[in-house]
Amino acid sequence: MPSTTGAIALTDSFGRQVHDLRISVTDRCNFRCTYCMPQEDVRWLPRAEILTFEEIERVARVFVERFGITSVRVTGGEPTVRAHLPELVARLARLPVELSMTTNGATLDHLALPLKNAGLHRVTVSCDSLRPDRFASITGRDMLPQVLAGLDAALNAGLAPVKVNSVLVRGVNDDEVVDLAAFGRERGVEVRFIEFMPLDGDGQWSLDRVVPAQEIIERVDAVFPVAPVVPEASNGDRANGHLRPSRGPEPADRYRYLDGGGHVGVVASVTRPFCSNCDRVRLTAEGSLRSCLFAVRERDLRAVLRGGGSDDDLAGAIVAEVATKWAGHAIGKVNFVRPARSMSQIGG
Ligand code: SAM
Ligand code: SF4
Repeated sequence: MPSTTGAIALTDSFGRQVHDLRISVTDRCNFRCTYCMPQEDVRWLPRAEILTFEEIERVARVFVERFGITSVRVTGGEPTVRAHLPELVARLARLPVELSMTTNGATLDHLALPLKNAGLHRVTVSCDSLRPDRFASITGRDMLPQVLAGLDAALNAGLAPVKVNSVLVRGVNDDEVVDLAAFGRERGVEVRFIEFMPLDGDGQWSLDRVVPAQEIIERVDAVFPVAPVVPEASNGDRANGHLRPSRGPEPADRYRYLDGGGHVGVVASVTRPFCSNCDRVRLTAEGSLRSCLFAVRERDLRAVLRGGGSDDDLAGAIVAEVATKWAGHAIGKVNFVRPARSMSQIGG
């Protein structure tokens, strides 16, 4: 296992240190979620433009060895449509990091065990509805049973913890908050409700379609009472109200069920942004480094990789891009500029 001795902190101009690298391994997807992908005229990147496994591993290794990052998440697009994914996971698992993946779960029934055996630690499965018809209309695929089987396969494979991401869109699935929370309690998985962000492929996002995190947690609390979890690395503000935990580096505000039924989370990217604690950067499938989900600029690391650049050159490009990280996004404000890429093209 490579040593991270001698690593230096990768810190932006606001003093936030990067610990987490999210790697999109493909822009392709077998689903067409309405809040993510364009519904028509989907264009995939040519294969030659996508980073190879060797290139991905090299960037991740530079992040670990030079900057001591502790967490790598594999995402996409849909990461499981990338051929030979367990091979990539095995390469990344050689690094001393917590290795996780976000997936729609549709093929996990046969991939969970190979991924676990390759060294994947944990997985998050996205599922926005427990009603087959609604699931099909949100994702464009009638595959709820396969996703639920994939979730079970992940649990059986020992990927731990397994979490569930549920994006709530007003008038689409917000009536399922309590059902999804109950599902998480029954399966012993933490459901994280995510506010709809302006990153959908068709530009249909509007503020009135966002279900605020506070409303979500109040609806859960009314049926399954909860208390906020104060993160160990929180900013120390313990004087918040009952349903407002203090902030740590995790994007989700976490709550525990008072009856011992586990935990639930809300990701309030829109109504309560966590930018001041953000510790992550993203690598797109074609090798561009993004310091923020909503960044309107990015740095081409593939040009360094394929132009014969050294690890010093890569590290220099990474430092330079992180230095540009802004204080935070301005969703809902007049100066908000929507990034040119949608969620599936960035990597969630
Ligand atoms: N395909 C995988 C999946 O669906 O889990 C990984 C990539 S997906 C882009 C990562 C996460 O982003 C998913 O949980 C998805 O629900 C979420 N997501 C996609 N578009 C979003 C949007 N406009 N607002 C909020 N979350 C979104
Ligand atoms: Fe595909 Fe995930 Fe986007 Fe759905 S959310 S379209 S599964 S990338």
